[in-house]
Amino acid sequence: MLRLKNLTKTYKTGDKALTNIGLEVPSGQVLALIGPSGAGKSTLIRCINRLVEPTGGEVWLDDLELTKLGSAGLRKARRSMGMIFQEYALVERLTVMENVLSGRLGYVGFWRSFLRRYPQSDVDEAFRLLDRVGLLHMADKRADELSGGQRQRVGICRALIQNPKLLLVDEPTASLDPKTSRQIMRLITELCRERGLAAIINIHDVALAQMFVPRVVGLRSGEIVYDGPPTGLSPDK
Ligand code: ADP
Ligand code: ADP
Repeated sequence: MLRLKNLTKTYKTGDKALTNIGLEVPSGQVLALIGPSGAGKSTLIRCINRLVEPTGGEVWLDDLELTKLGSAGLRKARRSMGMIFQEYALVERLTVMENVLSGRLGYVGFWRSFLRRYPQSDVDEAFRLLDRVGLLHMADKRADELSGGQRQRVGICRALIQNPKLLLVDEPTASLDPKTSRQIMRLITELCRERGLAAIINIHDVALAQMFVPRVVGLRSGEIVYDGPPTGLSPDK
């Protein structure tokens, strides 16, 4: 279970990105965070794994208070949170396989993947994941040879190889065409279901959220303005 209590973020510039956010996400639940550009979606996701430092409030993952952790504790805790990015954040000159394996280090140290020999069990799991997302035949290709949809599938594998409890997904389809966007959303939500994973998916395309998730949280100007099933939303929200 993920719990946010009074989560607040004011940037040094004075921008109030989040104000007293309270949110609970049970294990295994996938929700979409929607809202216009500037609503605070990306800030919210990044405050959970503290890529952005909250200025107030608490973040709990099960019985661990993430907002209290020092840097060593945080590094360890981040292993239970996978992140998927809009721009994929792959290392272009590494292969698909190397990019997936780099997830074993946590995203903060991914460039070190060159220097590391991975246990066979990690390599086997990487092959399993690539097979699951339909990219087994691409394992030895360099990341810069892939299409956008293929890159995002590599990003998904890289997040999942950590075996996280929680996936933080930031605008996964913003750089993709509509058909590929649906494929990627289907894949992420199916994998969460298969693995009993909780996820927060930032997405500004409401129709896409409505197709794939049972719960939508609407954010506007740093506050929650809707929390419920996607059917309760007006299409222009
Ligand atoms: P969204 O993801 O919904 O588009 P963001 O979380 O990116 O929203 O932004 C929320 C607010 O915080 C906006 O007003 C934005 O300008 C501001 N903001 C985001 N990142 C920074 C930053 N690094 N420094 C200052 N202000 C920021
Ligand atoms: P394009 O972008 O050219 O449509 P994709 O990169 O989406 O191609 O897909 C490449 C191949 O992988 C296709 O043959 C497609 O059927 C297959 N594929 C796409 N998504 C998946 C998936 N989730 N699981 C398995 N195979 C997939």
